[in-house]
Amino acid sequence: MSEWCQNKRCPEKKNQNQIRGSKGAKYYQSNKASSYYYDIGCSQGCFWDWFKQNETAIKNAVPHIPKQVLPLENAWYVEYRYSYSSGVEDRYYLRNKLMGIDQHITKQQAQTPEQIAEDHSWSTIDDTQAKELAITLGLASWHNQNNIVMYRHHLRN
Ligand SMILES: [Zn+2]
Repeated sequence: MSEWCQNKRCPEKKNQNQIRGSKGAKYYQSNKASSYYYDIGCSQGCFWDWFKQNETAIKNAVPHIPKQVLPLENAWYVEYRYSYSSGVEDRYYLRNKLMGIDQHITKQQAQTPEQIAEDHSWSTIDDTQAKELAITLGLASWHNQNNIVMYRHHLRN
């Protein structure tokens, strides 16, 4: 966005690295903005000061959205549970709390070939891939059918 920190009070931090000018005419200047703070602030403090300084304008500029929902058929994810005593094969679970499912899966199912190659045991497939895995394992379709059966049961009564 900008080269310089967008917090207008950045020079008031009076850090040593902000001093410029020659003797008798010295001054503090803004730091450079950092990509860590979205090229807006030089630090987390300046980023939040900028947000507070511009809060009303930002809220008015961004369209408001209504309530968002995540239905149960899209609520799948893979969870990595580290425990000192468990073996590496016991650490991966395919979960859908909205369906009450907590299914143990293998490392090969929980990770992409790239993740296995990187050897980061805690990284797992994303939620879209988790849903596909649930369908492959028959978990998603079985429960969908169950819901339909339950729904029909309610209709009859
Ligand atoms: Zn700053």
